[in-house]
Amino acid sequence: PTTGGSNFLRNLIAEQIASGEHTGAVVTRFPPEPNGYLHIGHAASICLNFGLAEYFQGACRLRFDDTNPDAEDQEYIDSIQADIQWLGFEWDGEVRYTSQYFATLYDYALHLIAAGLAYVDELSPDEIRDYRGTLTEPGKNSPYRDRDPAESRAMFEAMARGEYAEGTACLRARIDMAAGNINLRDPVIYRIRNKAHHQTGDAWCVYPSYDFAHGQSDAIEGVTHSICTLEFEDHRPLYNWLLEHLPVPARPVQYEFARVNLNYTITSKRKLRRLVEEQIVDGWDDPRMPTISGIRRRGYTPASIRAFCDRVGVSRSGGTVDAAMLEHAIRDDLNKNAARAMCVIDPLKVVITNWEAGHVETLTAPGHPDRDDMPERHLPLTREVYIEKADFREEANKKYKRLVLGKKVRLRNAYVIEAHDVVKNEAGEIVEVHCTYDPDTLGDNPADGVKPKGVIHWVSASHGKQALVRVYDRLFAVENPGREDDLLDGLNPFSLEIHPGCWIEPGLADVAAETRVQFERTGYFVADRYDHAAGAPVFNRVVALRDTWAK
Ligand code: ATP
Ligand code: MG
Ligand code: MG
Repeated sequence: PTTGGSNFLRNLIAEQIASGEHTGAVVTRFPPEPNGYLHIGHAASICLNFGLAEYFQGACRLRFDDTNPDAEDQEYIDSIQADIQWLGFEWDGEVRYTSQYFATLYDYALHLIAAGLAYVDELSPDEIRDYRGTLTEPGKNSPYRDRDPAESRAMFEAMARGEYAEGTACLRARIDMAAGNINLRDPVIYRIRNKAHHQTGDAWCVYPSYDFAHGQSDAIEGVTHSICTLEFEDHRPLYNWLLEHLPVPARPVQYEFARVNLNYTITSKRKLRRLVEEQIVDGWDDPRMPTISGIRRRGYTPASIRAFCDRVGVSRSGGTVDAAMLEHAIRDDLNKNAARAMCVIDPLKVVITNWEAGHVETLTAPGHPDRDDMPERHLPLTREVYIEKADFREEANKKYKRLVLGKKVRLRNAYVIEAHDVVKNEAGEIVEVHCTYDPDTLGDNPADGVKPKGVIHWVSASHGKQALVRVYDRLFAVENPGREDDLLDGLNPFSLEIHPGCWIEPGLADVAAETRVQFERTGYFVADRYDHAAGAPVFNRVVALRDTWAK
């Protein structure tokens, strides 16, 4: 599944190869921290890294950047792998973990200490921050900066044995407290954390920082192009400094691109976790979540997500992408590839009074208007059918192209009917519409020349099946939910409507989970990945037929 879009990184690597600046395989990596589920922004990074490896016939590794045991969990490791595979990508070789390199990274730290390029600092985390200075003010040296390397080594080893409490000491690279780039002002490269790690258990009491682990892991794995998002641009000098001063086996190069952000959406694991923890949504894979597993459950196809990422492209300038672009990608895919079907969401009974009770006529309809490869559908028509409540009015003006008392409408794929009566309950609500049908109108207009006003969908009351339909919409009603005082202020109160009593054509009741269909006139739907079962159908709305959010 090559992502076809050309982009500045692909062009740059092509030039490197053409000029001989780069030789050998192109090796990239996707390095998620397993502290949450992947979201649509990660999909962009996945398509980019795996796409480049595919394009240059190189390799892309999957490496869990697991240097912080606090928020990480096996659940996330599993979901991340499943998401990448579902998107259609394969990583090269085994899954890798930064934690596999903890011993090597520890040796690298000792190497820096021996060279006088790292020291154990005993300032508190707050003091370290104060000493660091600001953009306009140089930092101040820690009083421990000139500690003898032998002493730093002994202390670092004691830290690793668990002999120091958290926050009482750390290891810092000894670079330049006056550097214009604050990342070079003696960054902390190891912290004490007395916490079990999901991969290494109790083996370690000191953990490397992201900056100390990342470039060295890239080098150990032979990554040639280490692609990250722009907020790491200022870390690149540190990335290079560490590689220059350590006995690493290779020299990867870091490149940056702009994060992909979507309006009406949040792409921050921390904020998404809050929605899960406060049960605003039904888990990380709620169909309204911008997680890959949520988007999957919503009914998106892998191809639609890859097409979206290609369209968004890769840039260094960033900006926000319209959520409508993502919706457009799946609408486009399903318009071409989803079978058609009929579903009545808010049913009103229609009795065809000139249709013999018990008589069943099985009509046929195309699976898809322009696809011969999709099987025909069989639609039993009976004396009683359901139509949408919204498709009938006792009186209406000419703009209303549906069923009206005394007027004609076509039942889709079937006959023309004319309404002549209504039955109301005590509250005055219409509970039945009585019609007659014209037996000469299957595929033909009525002989009297009076054309039906429109076409409405329907399902046999006796032969249709009941279904639960969940109509999902955007989770947030505001363009920039992250900018609200409280994230929850921007929620869309109408992001989920549950319709338990819907009617679907009989052939749909037993489809496999994750089958996608267009309910004609209503929208695109998917049989829920988990809740749908043969005989107890559950459908999620993927997206409406048209963009209902366009301004
Ligand atoms: P978050 O803020 O959601 O936690 P992160 O960058 O901390 O994101 P990681 O697990 O470190 O999450 O991300 C793995 C890779 O995905 C990184 O290389 C990161 O740059 C990339 N990535 C994360 N978010 C986006 C995004 N919105 N657009 C493009 N790439 C992204
Ligand atoms: Mg990260
Ligand atoms: Mg993060």
